[in-house]
Amino acid sequence: MKLQNYINGQLVEPISQNYIDNVNPATGEVYSYIPDSDERDVEKAVQAAKNAFKLWSRKSAQERSQILLNIADLIEKNLDRLALAETNDNGKPLKLSKKVDIPRAVENFRFFATAILHFASESHHQPHFLNYTTRSPLGVVGCISPWNLPLYLFTWKIAPALAAGNCVVAKPSEVTPMTAYLLSELCIQAGLPAGVLNVVHGYGNKVGSAITAHSDIKAISFTGGTKTGQEIARVAAPMFKKLSLELGGKNATLVFADCNLERTINETVTASFANQGQICLCGSRIFVERSIYDVFVEKFVERTKKLVVTDPLDEKANLGAVVSKPHYEKILSYIQLAEQEGGKILCGGTTKPIVNERCKKGYFVYPTIIIGLNAYCRTNQEEIFGPVVTIQPFDNEEEAIEYANSTQYGLAGSIWTENLTRAHRVAHAIESGILWVNCWLVRDLRTPFGGMKQSGIGREGGWEALRFFTEPKNICIQLS
Ligand code: NDP
Repeated sequence: MKLQNYINGQLVEPISQNYIDNVNPATGEVYSYIPDSDERDVEKAVQAAKNAFKLWSRKSAQERSQILLNIADLIEKNLDRLALAETNDNGKPLKLSKKVDIPRAVENFRFFATAILHFASESHHQPHFLNYTTRSPLGVVGCISPWNLPLYLFTWKIAPALAAGNCVVAKPSEVTPMTAYLLSELCIQAGLPAGVLNVVHGYGNKVGSAITAHSDIKAISFTGGTKTGQEIARVAAPMFKKLSLELGGKNATLVFADCNLERTINETVTASFANQGQICLCGSRIFVERSIYDVFVEKFVERTKKLVVTDPLDEKANLGAVVSKPHYEKILSYIQLAEQEGGKILCGGTTKPIVNERCKKGYFVYPTIIIGLNAYCRTNQEEIFGPVVTIQPFDNEEEAIEYANSTQYGLAGSIWTENLTRAHRVAHAIESGILWVNCWLVRDLRTPFGGMKQSGIGREGGWEALRFFTEPKNICIQLS
């Protein structure tokens, strides 16, 4: 099967007519071909988006909302097909695609389709003057997304951009392009006017960089690695583009002795290994108060060993394959590094799991737990983005906070304690954009989402996203 770009309302071949192999990471086999597009395809997409902008931006919010709701309904109707496509592309358990990824794509469209109906402008009164602020769409915007939650994060960007009246040139990760391709088909069925959304497939250093550098693209919303974010900022900042960068993380899980231990074990195992640890919000560094350290480690290992790593199509799978061969090799190299740094592997490691005949060439990693490292070694400072966690003891609250804040990242974290005052105090002290107390990955789409430090700039979600995708203008009128 050959995927196609979606440009000006049509599914088209890349101008180069070249294609990239698309590998199913659970089997290691090529199962489809991705357009190897370049700056010429991006140029066509930008022109189509520019031409569509007048029509789309002048539609009423209700009209735009209705079309986005149609798209949401179609995603929901095609949930099983999209979930299977996501699993074949990414390696994640099918039950996760069905329960999380695709329903969240539906929610993203519904949330922003209805949010835009309530997105009011402000006015400020002075004794003899009235200020009112309008918010207009920016024009053509670029959305670039990663492979870990493919349709989920793709729609998290394009839904607010479209709801606010922009036209979009989007690039999904070339590692997981399938659901973005299927979404193009659904957008045609939903009656989205030609050119409003354009999806250009291909490599980041060709398509992504052409989107970033294009002078007619007014803003870039990017989710991906910190290095790529730096490169995008280097190119886009001198052009004064608006930038929203959601980047890497190395999130801390802080477990205090007064936590509810059973619940904490259950939830922190999920927070460590969900989606094979390939969620930017996963807690990869666990710090445990010394008085419960031994019992925590014992129970955490026991619970982790019960996780089933198998064919993602198998209902029993808790973990499927990691996303690609290069990523598999990167994860294994970090496990080896941890050993070189003096870490002790309590379970998992570089042994290849036995899965089944279909998956014998797939990229599977057992959930891996490492102890005996200090908070400042490379294993604990660099993003691994796989099913690998470290556990370290701490002696007091100050030390826990210092360890949590010791990396260049500041995306998310979780705190486990029954002491409410401590929960507030520690949450305020941690340098992260998102903190959960006695829970993990509870998402309310109205809340600001994003990181501090090298985890990015800007916030997504709720009004933040609609503000990002609009330009404010203040008009001041003399009243007397
Ligand atoms: P990358 O940064 O490698 O890629 C992200 C996207 O950018 C892909 O579509 C990629 O294309 C594209 N890209 C690559 N190079 C360029 C370039 N020079 N200019 C423009 N675009 C480019 O990240 P991954 O896909 O590997 O995703 C994993 C990373 O994403 C992790 O670091 C993770 O922490 C982060 N992430 C952050 C989240 C957050 O909300 N903060 C959420 C989810 C993930 P291609 O695939 O072809 O390389």
